[in-house]
Amino acid sequence: MIDFRRDWKEKNRVAFVFDTKGDKASSEDQGRPGMPAAVRVVTDAGEHDIFLYRNLAGKAFYYTKRGDRARGGGFLRYPLDFRRISSQFSQRRFDPVLKRWQPHDGVDFAAPSGTAVHATANGVVTFAGVQTGYGNVIEIRNRPPYSTLFAHLSRFAKGIRIGTRVKRNEVIGYVGATGWATGPHLHYEVQVDDVPKNPLTVSLPPAEPLQGRDLSRFASRSETLEDLL
Ligand SMILES: [Zn+2]
Repeated sequence: MIDFRRDWKEKNRVAFVFDTKGDKASSEDQGRPGMPAAVRVVTDAGEHDIFLYRNLAGKAFYYTKRGDRARGGGFLRYPLDFRRISSQFSQRRFDPVLKRWQPHDGVDFAAPSGTAVHATANGVVTFAGVQTGYGNVIEIRNRPPYSTLFAHLSRFAKGIRIGTRVKRNEVIGYVGATGWATGPHLHYEVQVDDVPKNPLTVSLPPAEPLQGRDLSRFASRSETLEDLL
């Protein structure tokens, strides 16, 4: 996506399609009145099209041609492709390494060493280094009030350091067993106002790409709109 404040140049072109029919059938597909149904921006880097779509759950957002949310405000629920959940979030669990009861502030996802770990939302890296217990750990400040933490990594992805801006779904590191870990897994935390919440159930801003019936409805609508741009 284009950052208009940063990337805008005089020679760029922008085109809009408005849905002005105003009848019930079309307003169903609109967001607020006056929101363009489609936008095309042409820059040196190429064409960027986004399309307004009201999903079957009744919410209108802009999506890219592929059905991804155009603005990455949301969160992915899972930061990796995992085998199973090896330890749940808990106020009090018996720690297998420390051999004592203490809170488990995240969820452990068992996965082979080297499995890619993805940022679950856009944000800025606030820590990337070694911590006792957590081993190689990355902390990301996401949009307020959220922050996320990824521990026991075997290594970091290239360019990941304090201050790095990351995008939702970007690879930030790889599963390992550094720190106090009995086997390769990702320890993942979601904090809301710095308080750990259960990553599997905490309410997150939606980001899910379009799927199934929404995606097929969107595809036919965006094709029609694309012809008008
Ligand atoms: Zn853990």
